[in-house]
Amino acid sequence: MKLIILGPPGAGKGTQAQKICDDFNAVQISTGDILRAEVSNNTELGKKAQSYMDKGELVPDKIILGMMEKKLFGEEAPSGYILDGFPRTIPQAEGLTELYEEHKEELDAIILLDVDRQEIVRRLTARRVCKECNQVYNLEFMPPEEEGVCDECGGELIQRDDDKEETVLNRLDVYEEETSPLVDYYSKTGKLEKVDANGGPDEVYDNIKEVLESL
Ligand code: AMP
Repeated sequence: MKLIILGPPGAGKGTQAQKICDDFNAVQISTGDILRAEVSNNTELGKKAQSYMDKGELVPDKIILGMMEKKLFGEEAPSGYILDGFPRTIPQAEGLTELYEEHKEELDAIILLDVDRQEIVRRLTARRVCKECNQVYNLEFMPPEEEGVCDECGGELIQRDDDKEETVLNRLDVYEEETSPLVDYYSKTGKLEKVDANGGPDEVYDNIKEVLESL
């Protein structure tokens, strides 16, 4: 199964992608996670990406498309995956469509997580991430057992710089401007599936599962 999970930051894309992977034998490919790993390994790509990421701006399309072509069509490309955080702009979506045509592959569906702006700000400013293993928590509805400590590995939980309120508002504006046009782009393919994502993680997943089982 080849899917895109689409929605504003804080819609729960990462959380839902993990659940889909467990049930549908796929791997999650998150451009945000790949870029953060490049930044912490201080690679050339990481150095280029960091200044954009710190401000909540998008990394240039050319850099992202080159990185994703290797991931999706290189020797180690997985057969089933969920793209999380990519594509994020119309040029990225067009670039991806060209790559699928070139490699004679096809997407199965684009899942759109539909959430209210107010709910997103509430969720994102309460998000904490493990510094060591990247496990995600939410102080409101998925808190760790011990404050500030990861349940999985004991690592320190931190707030990502881009989850601070001012940056969250900027990321939402960027989403409205650059990413929401993707909804129109993909609805024309007839493969866009809109899912109500205002509820808790399990409730949202039930909605997604229903869609995927009907494909
Ligand atoms: P995320 O974890 O998906 O919210 O991504 C964190 C940051 O990484 C974003 O605010 C962007 O700066 C950058 N980023 C992730 N994916 C992309 C993409 N597809 N295109 C451009 N920038 C991206």
